[in-house]
Amino acid sequence: MLNIKVITVGHVPRFNKKKIEKWKSKLFKINGNIEDHTLPSNSDGCNWEFTDENLKTNIPNNKIEFGFTIAIVNCSLEQDYYSRIINDNLVVISFYPIQQILEDQNIPLENVVLRLIYAYCLGYLSSNEQISKSISIRNFTHDETKGCLYDMTGIVRDIVPSCHNPIICSDCLEKMKKNRVSIDKLNIAQNEIKKIKKELFYNLIDISKKHRVASFIIITIITSILSYIITFIFNIIIGLKIS
Ligand SMILES: [Zn+2]
Repeated sequence: MLNIKVITVGHVPRFNKKKIEKWKSKLFKINGNIEDHTLPSNSDGCNWEFTDENLKTNIPNNKIEFGFTIAIVNCSLEQDYYSRIINDNLVVISFYPIQQILEDQNIPLENVVLRLIYAYCLGYLSSNEQISKSISIRNFTHDETKGCLYDMTGIVRDIVPSCHNPIICSDCLEKMKKNRVSIDKLNIAQNEIKKIKKELFYNLIDISKKHRVASFIIITIITSILSYIITFIFNIIIGLKIS
């Protein structure tokens, strides 16, 4: 099982750390709690972004046996990416470019973290058990947005489909198998990523938006039944009082 260390670096928006810390997986285990660190440097890029070199110097990267570190930040990264491999076995995820897009769609920030953990775990297994800066992210991704873990999401709002009920598309599955990731591990990942979804309340709202007529009929039936039950109980109570 892979070991994943998750940390935050600098101020980041509130998110449900417990959900990530307690995530049940047969593919990886989250090492300890998500610890907070400060970001002691200023941005050094031409457009106020933090370069990989800057982050690499300022983010703790303790060696992890059979695994890697994910550092969550809230700043602009090189080339407007929201996630980059900045050193061997050190990945950065920035909420900065994606927070508003996900919030507008009622998708919790934890979903993107979990989606990327699965994507990098399989990337790690298919790259001789390492995540190396020398491996291009383009080796894994595709430009077409399919709701797949490996959607490139060059247009950032395309991140939405892969943060709610994500899949591993058939092309990516084949690529992983060729890279000697076991079918067992791929099956585990496929099953577990089904749990990455919106909360039930927002899920129901989405369903009702998609099926407006059916929702209207169901709500009308439920309202009628409730109304009948309330009237029935009311009549019993009134009947008891009169007798
Ligand atoms: Zn894919």
